[in-house]
Amino acid sequence: MKKSPFRIVVIITLIIVAIIIALVVLANRTPESTLGRTFDETPSIEGQPTLGDADAPVTIVEFGDFKCPACKVWGEDILPQLEKDYIDNGKVQFAYINVLFHGEESRLASLAAESVYQQHPETYWEFHKALFDEQPSENHDSQWVTEEKTREIAEGMETIDTDELTKAIENKTLMNEVDKDESLVSDFEVEMTPSIMVDNVMIEDPFDYEAIEQAINEALGE
Ligand code: CA
Repeated sequence: MKKSPFRIVVIITLIIVAIIIALVVLANRTPESTLGRTFDETPSIEGQPTLGDADAPVTIVEFGDFKCPACKVWGEDILPQLEKDYIDNGKVQFAYINVLFHGEESRLASLAAESVYQQHPETYWEFHKALFDEQPSENHDSQWVTEEKTREIAEGMETIDTDELTKAIENKTLMNEVDKDESLVSDFEVEMTPSIMVDNVMIEDPFDYEAIEQAINEALGE
Protein backbone atom coordinates (compact mmCIF):
# COMPACT_ATOMS: atom_id res chain seq x y z
CA MET A 1 0.00 0.00 0.00
CA LYS A 2 1.28 3.43 -0.90
CA LYS A 3 1.86 5.71 2.07
CA SER A 4 -0.24 8.82 1.95
CA PRO A 5 1.81 12.03 1.74
CA PHE A 6 -0.78 13.55 4.05
CA ARG A 7 0.08 11.01 6.78
CA ILE A 8 3.79 11.80 6.47
CA VAL A 9 3.05 15.51 6.81
CA VAL A 10 0.99 14.84 9.95
CA ILE A 11 3.75 12.72 11.49
CA ILE A 12 6.42 15.33 10.71
CA THR A 13 4.20 18.07 12.14
CA LEU A 14 3.64 16.04 15.33
CA ILE A 15 7.39 15.51 15.71
CA ILE A 16 8.06 19.23 15.27
CA VAL A 17 5.34 20.12 17.81
CA ALA A 18 6.80 17.62 20.29
CA ILE A 19 10.27 19.15 19.88
CA ILE A 20 8.89 22.67 20.39
CA ILE A 21 7.01 21.60 23.54
CA ALA A 22 10.13 19.93 24.91
CA LEU A 23 12.21 23.07 24.26
CA VAL A 24 9.64 25.33 25.94
CA VAL A 25 9.45 23.05 29.00
CA LEU A 26 13.25 22.94 29.30
CA ALA A 27 13.59 26.71 28.90
CA ASN A 28 11.02 27.42 31.62
CA ARG A 29 12.54 25.12 34.19
CA THR A 30 13.99 27.19 37.02
CA PRO A 31 17.68 26.50 37.25
CA GLU A 32 18.59 24.52 40.37
CA SER A 33 20.24 26.97 42.76
CA THR A 34 23.33 25.71 44.51
CA LEU A 35 22.61 28.18 47.31
CA GLY A 36 19.36 26.73 48.55
CA ARG A 37 15.98 28.24 49.19
CA THR A 38 15.12 31.90 48.75
CA PHE A 39 12.57 33.41 51.13
CA ASP A 40 10.52 36.56 50.61
CA GLU A 41 12.21 38.26 53.53
CA THR A 42 15.43 38.41 55.51
CA PRO A 43 14.88 37.37 59.15
CA SER A 44 14.41 40.33 61.48
CA ILE A 45 17.43 40.64 63.78
CA GLU A 46 15.85 43.21 66.05
CA GLY A 47 16.91 42.53 69.63
CA GLN A 48 19.36 39.81 68.55
CA PRO A 49 23.04 39.70 69.48
CA THR A 50 25.08 40.83 66.48
CA LEU A 51 28.64 41.14 65.28
CA GLY A 52 29.78 43.85 62.91
CA ASP A 53 28.44 47.09 61.57
CA ALA A 54 24.69 47.69 62.08
CA ASP A 55 24.69 49.50 58.71
CA ALA A 56 26.35 46.64 56.82
CA PRO A 57 24.63 46.01 53.47
CA VAL A 58 24.27 42.25 54.04
CA THR A 59 22.92 40.30 57.01
CA ILE A 60 23.91 36.76 57.90
CA VAL A 61 21.87 34.89 60.45
CA GLU A 62 22.92 31.70 62.15
CA PHE A 63 20.16 29.55 63.57
CA GLY A 64 22.16 27.63 66.15
CA ASP A 65 21.84 25.44 69.20
CA PHE A 66 24.43 25.42 72.00
CA LYS A 67 23.87 21.66 72.31
CA CYS A 68 24.61 20.99 68.64
CA PRO A 69 28.11 19.68 67.82
CA ALA A 70 28.00 20.96 64.22
CA CYS A 71 27.25 24.47 65.55
CA LYS A 72 30.35 24.31 67.73
CA VAL A 73 32.45 23.32 64.70
CA TRP A 74 30.81 26.01 62.53
CA GLY A 75 31.62 28.64 65.16
CA GLU A 76 35.23 27.49 65.29
CA ASP A 77 35.88 26.98 61.58
CA ILE A 78 33.54 29.15 59.51
CA LEU A 79 32.65 32.15 61.68
CA PRO A 80 36.26 33.36 62.19
CA GLN A 81 36.76 33.25 58.42
CA LEU A 82 33.55 35.22 57.86
CA GLU A 83 34.65 37.78 60.43
CA LYS A 84 37.97 38.23 58.71
CA ASP A 85 36.58 38.41 55.16
CA TYR A 86 33.23 40.17 55.55
CA ILE A 87 32.24 41.20 59.09
CA ASP A 88 35.31 43.17 60.21
CA ASN A 89 35.29 45.24 57.01
CA GLY A 90 31.65 46.28 57.38
CA LYS A 91 30.16 44.26 54.52
CA VAL A 92 28.21 41.86 56.72
CA GLN A 93 26.38 42.07 60.00
CA PHE A 94 26.07 38.70 61.73
CA ALA A 95 23.34 37.64 64.16
CA TYR A 96 22.70 34.50 66.19
CA ILE A 97 19.23 33.09 66.78
CA ASN A 98 18.58 30.28 69.26
CA VAL A 99 17.19 26.94 68.16
CA LEU A 100 15.91 24.52 70.82
CA PHE A 101 16.23 21.21 68.99
CA HIS A 102 17.89 19.56 72.01
CA GLY A 103 15.15 20.33 74.50
CA GLU A 104 15.60 21.50 78.07
CA GLU A 105 19.36 22.05 77.92
CA SER A 106 18.99 24.12 74.73
CA ARG A 107 16.37 26.20 76.52
CA LEU A 108 18.57 26.70 79.57
CA ALA A 109 21.59 27.67 77.47
CA SER A 110 19.46 30.09 75.43
CA LEU A 111 17.94 31.67 78.54
CA ALA A 112 21.42 32.13 80.03
CA ALA A 113 22.80 33.64 76.83
CA GLU A 114 19.81 35.99 76.45
CA SER A 115 20.27 37.07 80.07
CA VAL A 116 23.94 37.81 79.53
CA TYR A 117 23.03 39.76 76.39
CA GLN A 118 20.49 41.80 78.33
CA GLN A 119 22.90 42.53 81.17
CA HIS A 120 25.85 43.49 79.03
CA PRO A 121 25.52 43.13 75.23
CA GLU A 122 29.28 43.51 74.70
CA THR A 123 29.93 40.40 76.80
CA TYR A 124 27.48 38.26 74.86
CA TRP A 125 29.95 36.82 72.33
CA GLU A 126 32.49 35.98 74.99
CA PHE A 127 29.81 34.02 76.85
CA HIS A 128 28.54 32.47 73.60
CA LYS A 129 32.00 31.17 72.78
CA ALA A 130 32.72 30.04 76.35
CA LEU A 131 29.47 28.07 76.38
CA PHE A 132 30.32 26.31 73.11
CA ASP A 133 33.81 25.63 74.47
CA GLU A 134 32.22 23.70 77.32
CA GLN A 135 30.40 21.38 74.91
CA PRO A 136 32.12 18.01 75.27
CA SER A 137 33.67 16.80 72.01
CA GLU A 138 32.56 13.27 72.81
CA ASN A 139 29.14 12.28 74.07
CA HIS A 140 27.67 15.75 73.62
CA ASP A 141 24.23 14.26 74.32
CA SER A 142 25.17 13.76 77.95
CA GLN A 143 23.91 16.52 80.21
CA TRP A 144 26.39 19.36 80.41
CA VAL A 145 24.32 22.57 80.30
CA THR A 146 23.33 23.23 83.89
CA GLU A 147 22.57 26.35 85.87
CA GLU A 148 25.84 25.81 87.77
CA LYS A 149 27.76 25.57 84.52
CA THR A 150 26.37 28.85 83.16
CA ARG A 151 27.16 30.49 86.50
CA GLU A 152 30.68 29.09 86.49
CA ILE A 153 31.29 30.49 82.99
CA ALA A 154 29.88 33.91 83.90
CA GLU A 155 31.97 34.08 87.06
CA GLY A 156 35.01 34.67 84.89
CA MET A 157 33.35 37.74 83.34
CA GLU A 158 33.43 40.81 85.50
CA THR A 159 30.73 42.62 83.53
CA ILE A 160 28.19 39.94 84.50
CA ASP A 161 26.35 39.79 87.82
CA THR A 162 26.11 36.03 88.35
CA ASP A 163 23.37 36.24 91.00
CA GLU A 164 21.26 38.26 88.61
CA LEU A 165 22.01 35.73 85.87
CA THR A 166 20.91 32.79 88.03
CA LYS A 167 17.77 34.64 89.07
CA ALA A 168 16.96 35.45 85.44
CA ILE A 169 17.38 31.79 84.47
CA GLU A 170 15.25 30.54 87.38
CA ASN A 171 12.51 33.08 86.71
CA LYS A 172 12.77 32.53 82.93
CA THR A 173 12.91 36.32 82.67
CA LEU A 174 14.03 36.32 79.05
CA MET A 175 11.65 33.59 77.90
CA ASN A 176 9.98 36.13 75.59
CA GLU A 177 13.29 36.44 73.69
CA VAL A 178 13.65 32.67 73.45
CA ASP A 179 10.06 32.44 72.21
CA LYS A 180 10.79 35.15 69.64
CA ASP A 181 13.70 33.06 68.36
CA GLU A 182 11.51 29.96 68.21
CA SER A 183 8.96 31.76 66.07
CA LEU A 184 11.73 32.81 63.64
CA VAL A 185 12.84 29.17 63.52
CA SER A 186 9.34 28.20 62.52
CA ASP A 187 8.84 31.15 60.10
CA PHE A 188 12.00 30.21 58.22
CA GLU A 189 11.30 26.49 58.45
CA VAL A 190 14.65 25.72 60.03
CA GLU A 191 15.15 21.97 60.00
CA MET A 192 18.77 21.58 60.96
CA THR A 193 21.43 23.35 62.97
CA PRO A 194 23.35 25.30 62.11
CA SER A 195 21.21 26.87 59.40
CA ILE A 196 22.77 29.89 57.75
CA MET A 197 20.88 32.59 55.91
CA VAL A 198 22.56 35.27 53.82
CA ASP A 199 19.86 37.95 53.66
CA ASN A 200 16.85 35.96 52.41
CA VAL A 201 18.77 32.96 51.07
CA MET A 202 19.03 29.77 53.12
CA ILE A 203 22.42 28.22 52.39
CA GLU A 204 22.04 24.56 51.49
CA ASP A 205 25.28 23.43 53.15
CA PRO A 206 26.40 25.75 55.98
CA PHE A 207 29.95 24.40 55.70
CA ASP A 208 30.23 25.31 52.00
CA TYR A 209 32.16 28.56 52.41
CA GLU A 210 32.20 29.20 48.66
CA ALA A 211 28.40 29.05 48.55
CA ILE A 212 28.22 31.52 51.44
CA GLU A 213 30.64 33.82 49.61
CA GLN A 214 28.64 33.50 46.40
CA ALA A 215 25.45 34.45 48.24
CA ILE A 216 27.20 37.43 49.89
CA ASN A 217 28.51 38.63 46.54
CA GLU A 218 25.09 38.28 44.97
CA ALA A 219 23.55 40.21 47.87
CA LEU A 220 26.22 42.90 47.45
CA GLY A 221 25.41 43.01 43.74
CA GLU A 222 28.95 42.00 42.82
CA1 CA B 1 17.56 35.81 70.53
